[in-house]
Amino acid sequence: MDIREKMIQTLISAKIPSPRLEADRILKSAAPQYPNLTEKEYQQIKDMLNRRCSHEPLDKIIGCREFYKSVFKVSTAVLSPRPDTEILVESALEILPTERPQQILDLGTGSGCILLSILQERPQIQGIGIDISLAALQIAQQNAQAQDLMTRVNFINSNWKDLHFKADTFDMIVSNPPYIPQEEIKTLDPEVKDYDPLIALDGGTDGLKCYHELAEIIPLWLKTGGHVLLEVGAGQAKTVTDIFRQRGLKLEAIKQDLAGIERCVIMRK
Ligand code: GLN
Repeated sequence: MDIREKMIQTLISAKIPSPRLEADRILKSAAPQYPNLTEKEYQQIKDMLNRRCSHEPLDKIIGCREFYKSVFKVSTAVLSPRPDTEILVESALEILPTERPQQILDLGTGSGCILLSILQERPQIQGIGIDISLAALQIAQQNAQAQDLMTRVNFINSNWKDLHFKADTFDMIVSNPPYIPQEEIKTLDPEVKDYDPLIALDGGTDGLKCYHELAEIIPLWLKTGGHVLLEVGAGQAKTVTDIFRQRGLKLEAIKQDLAGIERCVIMRK
């Protein structure tokens, strides 16, 4: 049996969804000259296949993931970018002008996928990405370098609570904070709970801890007329809107993700 066919059978036995697609991605990454294989490539394919069959996600094995229009480096230090988060990028771009220079802030930037995707589409805009995890910021920095965006982005390694930006600094603030209720984390797929960093998932007892913290700071740092775009978990959109409404922000829109779940809350100061 051909190696590709063997890989597919192995992935099927391990109940990995999309076995053909995943086999091809492993081949493309480990053995670009396939069907010609060196012994080293063969061993690497075996190793990658074993890791995948123990439910390590393919993007963490290969080391990169596509998001919006670019390929992002990922590791276990960052949440793997999700297609559902692209709605946040699309919504931001609908709002952001194409000419005027603006300042945007990304709280909990992780791989940098949201901020860098926006900067790619708006050459006159500058961004700041914050993350409490230095290991995550190093990945974000490598992504900015690979995408030639270093001159327009600054990364700050800090807890967002310890930052002191001046009032009315940003035209837009975006965030995809950790929002999974603590008790639910153990029920997630192994691909998520064992390989995405806990710090990027854990939203406290009710999943809303970060939104309460963000509501303390975002309304101050945002310019009047500026927008905040927040990713939220399933069923959280209304509560999150209320938390920010109490701080004086106005709801502009709630956008659904690809599965029809309310995923992105857009509010304005
Ligand atoms: N901003 C990053 C993303 O959207 C990281 C989010 C996180 O770690 N919670 O993928």
